Amino acid sequence: MSFSSLGLAPSLLNAVTEIGYTEPTAIQSAAIPAALRGEDVLGSAQTGSGKTAAFALPMLNALLAKRNAPGGKDGARGLHGLVLVPTRELAAQVGEAIRVLVQHLPVPLKVSIVFGGVSINPQMMALRGGADIVVATPGRLLDLIEHNALDISSTATLVLDEADRLLDMGFTEEIGRILALLPARRQNLFFSATFPSAVQTLAHHLLRNPVRVEA
Ligand code: AMP
Repeated sequence: MSFSSLGLAPSLLNAVTEIGYTEPTAIQSAAIPAALRGEDVLGSAQTGSGKTAAFALPMLNALLAKRNAPGGKDGARGLHGLVLVPTRELAAQVGEAIRVLVQHLPVPLKVSIVFGGVSINPQMMALRGGADIVVATPGRLLDLIEHNALDISSTATLVLDEADRLLDMGFTEEIGRILALLPARRQNLFFSATFPSAVQTLAHHLLRNPVRVEA
């Protein structure tokens, strides 16, 4: 399998080549074509499997297509992608990995990383003028929404990364509140290392006819 057979836009193929990826990982080969078709994805994947690029590449592909569509370069832009993660470490890691991809693209895209445990003000400032992709821990995301620093009502793609840890860390209620603020019509990409019943319940609630993929 090669990256060029997955259906990604030339600028993204160029980006992965520049970064030095030669072949997609198993989860990337399985998830990327399904996500590019606009389907929901239920991924069973551990850290190290390449799952970040498995959700980031199709999300960026759709964002670039939207930006290149007639009128896509004009006016105020809403949030395109929202990635929920359980910890600040994962927020930083996932956000930086997406920024590396974005740095290799011909269009400027804004990736914001927000997490709790630090002052909210710099994050509010950084969100001024909007963002294309936000990587967030759930509690701080809700705080920012309550401060009117962020509007998630235009989100086209929602990613839950490490869904099992999101639930283990007690974010069930926050996730419910976030889901209520998202548009009903959106794509959902759901990744978890393990599938205890609470994770299965959330996946069932969230996903529409998901394509199941494994690392
Ligand atoms: P992840 O599981 O997303 O945290 O990725 C684990 C590591 O694998 C990261 O350092 C990525 O940069 C790297 N990686 C992701 N996809 C590929 C690929 N197709 N080829 C080589 N390395 C990759």
